[in-house]
Amino acid sequence: MSEFKNFIGGEWVAGASSTLNINPSNIAEVIGEYAGGTAQDVDTAVAAAAAAFPAWSTGGIQERSDALDKIGEELLARKDELGTLLSREEGKTRAEGIGEVARAGRIFKFFAAEVLRQTGEVLASVRPGVGIEVTREPVGVVGLVTPWNFPMAIPAWKIAPALAYGNCVVLKPADLVPGCAWALAEIISRSGVPAGVFNLVMGRGSVIGEAMVEHPGIHAISFTGSVGVGRRIAERCAALQKKVQLEMGGKNPQVVLDDADLATAVELCVQSAYYASGQRCTASSRLIVTKGIYAKFVDAMQARMAGIRVGNALAATTDIGPVASQAQFDQDARYVDIALDEGATLAVPGGRVACHTGSGFEGYFFSPVLLTDTTPAMRINKEEVFGPVASIIQVADYDEALASANDTEFGLAAGIATASLKYASHFKRHSQAGMVMVNLPTAGVDYHVPFGGRKGSSYGPREQGTYAREFYTTVKTSYIAS
Ligand code: NAP
Ligand code: MG
Repeated sequence: MSEFKNFIGGEWVAGASSTLNINPSNIAEVIGEYAGGTAQDVDTAVAAAAAAFPAWSTGGIQERSDALDKIGEELLARKDELGTLLSREEGKTRAEGIGEVARAGRIFKFFAAEVLRQTGEVLASVRPGVGIEVTREPVGVVGLVTPWNFPMAIPAWKIAPALAYGNCVVLKPADLVPGCAWALAEIISRSGVPAGVFNLVMGRGSVIGEAMVEHPGIHAISFTGSVGVGRRIAERCAALQKKVQLEMGGKNPQVVLDDADLATAVELCVQSAYYASGQRCTASSRLIVTKGIYAKFVDAMQARMAGIRVGNALAATTDIGPVASQAQFDQDARYVDIALDEGATLAVPGGRVACHTGSGFEGYFFSPVLLTDTTPAMRINKEEVFGPVASIIQVADYDEALASANDTEFGLAAGIATASLKYASHFKRHSQAGMVMVNLPTAGVDYHVPFGGRKGSSYGPREQGTYAREFYTTVKTSYIAS
């Protein structure tokens, strides 16, 4: 099997070690062997990025726009093929995989246009005969560290603005799912982006990620992943005076009020809690339901969930693919046990599925679990599971629902299902989350508007849309004697 190599300084570089990329729908199937880099590779990549930076950051914006547009075009043209790769390596369904690749393509096209909209300000000085300009400049060499659950979209939504605003990039994707990042690097290598501007170094976070965080030639780190790793990165970046942006976990609430349309509420809860195997940072995992609709809601969830088909991510009949890894599978099972020990009831048992088909595949299949009789104090309602496991908290009324929704150390997304304008408006204003959805799933966001959370979920400026420039640029104030 030939190895998929790292891309450093415009060259394909063999790894010191390698990782096998496994299909979680069929763990006997190896997708490919991917290079594992070293701290030395990070050093070489940073040197290449630094060397490329002067020309890239001051070169024409047309060159940047054209390259980003070309990358976006190719992603869109190859969305079926690359979506299938995504689905094979990560386990979300093929439809979800294709959707994610299309989203990545649109992100590149958005930033291809955004390149052309770089603006500054001209201000009057308080001193006569002086003029002031406020302009934006790129930060320099940025390090991007990405998780396994959106192997194409998250690299895309960091790389595209980084390049658009004139930075050079070192990307370290999650070791579990290097395939999409490699495919994206290969597309970038043919896009007209000069050698050294974009570098891919695959490998373990403890090796490559740490080397990037510590490297004096990397000026900013954008990280998406777990809270534990993110907090450590932020501490190191503060000590080293690097700019840092973190997107981390969630324990997102979905409120269902008595006056909600039942079918809508059930559908958006099922979508947010279970699709993509619950492995979305914006997934709802706490369903907070007022007492007037509670019994009907639980019955309707049980009926709806009976029809969910768990299976091979590539099969057209599959609603929910496997979870991504053995570690995630074990974590999901462990949290169901923790919840039961705490007194929760299995309203929909789900759990481990021994899934064999005629072709004899075996993967990390975990069918959706719904827990009832849970309280906000339980661990199941405090800690992120990151799997197809959701719990219901019954509350008396809207006020208790809002308090319960905000009773978490996280604050990424929050949803409410209600027919009441009064409650919807109040919830939008008083939810302590970065993103609020009214009668829509918490998971599933647009690509051209800010993305991010509050409290323990996020740190630093927002990602995506025009807001991305807060992180990927630095402001300069110039004074000119007239
Ligand atoms: P993770 O374990 O924190 O890993 C994220 C990335 O950090 C991976 O590339 C990982 O490398 C790397 N890493 C690990 N240790 C490191 C270190 N010491 N220094 C630098 N980098 C290091 O998270 P994950 O398990 O991949 O992803 C799941 C988490 O991501 C969940 O908590 C989820 O909520 C969160 N997430 C958040 C968002 C959001 O936007 N808020 C979006 C998606 C996911 P390896 O290759 O070795 O793993
Ligand atoms: Mg990990």
